[in-house]
Amino acid sequence: MINIKYMQPFTKISRRASENQDCWNLSCTTCGSMELMKRYSRLGHISHTYRFDRSAHNNSINSQNKMLRNLGEINLVELIKYSKFPDWLGHIGLLLNACQEAENELKIVSESFLSQILEICPNNSYAFEIAQEMKSSGEVLTPEKLGRFEGDLHDIANSYKDIN
Ligand SMILES: [Zn+2]
Repeated sequence: MINIKYMQPFTKISRRASENQDCWNLSCTTCGSMELMKRYSRLGHISHTYRFDRSAHNNSINSQNKMLRNLGEINLVELIKYSKFPDWLGHIGLLLNACQEAENELKIVSESFLSQILEICPNNSYAFEIAQEMKSSGEVLTPEKLGRFEGDLHDIANSYKDIN
């Protein structure tokens, strides 16, 4: 039984965006991923009128920092359970792209995402190996680099589906 009340804000958004089939294609010029960016703007509580853009250089550093804190709290296990793969990975990528300048400085998402990968992926998996490498070299996560984890996360997402 799913209890939406206790779900993290990002999980709720990801779940709803997936149900609505909101576009998360970073290079889409048709809609500019508008629906998702609207949802994110509300999540960030940046202001009533401010529209968070998917390109970091169009967002103030202050708003990027605020948004990064939300991204740092993402719980991958919850996402795997309640949202759809690969949608949620795309949702993270889109938002990360919008905060990339702040992330390059603070590495909040990199730290949180890679640590969780090490917890949920088997230690003989490709994803585990890559996460360990990136962590020890202090490499910053980018939307493109998220793609490296897609194969293993796909398997894990499937195995959760079988249990539930
Ligand atoms: Zn689109």
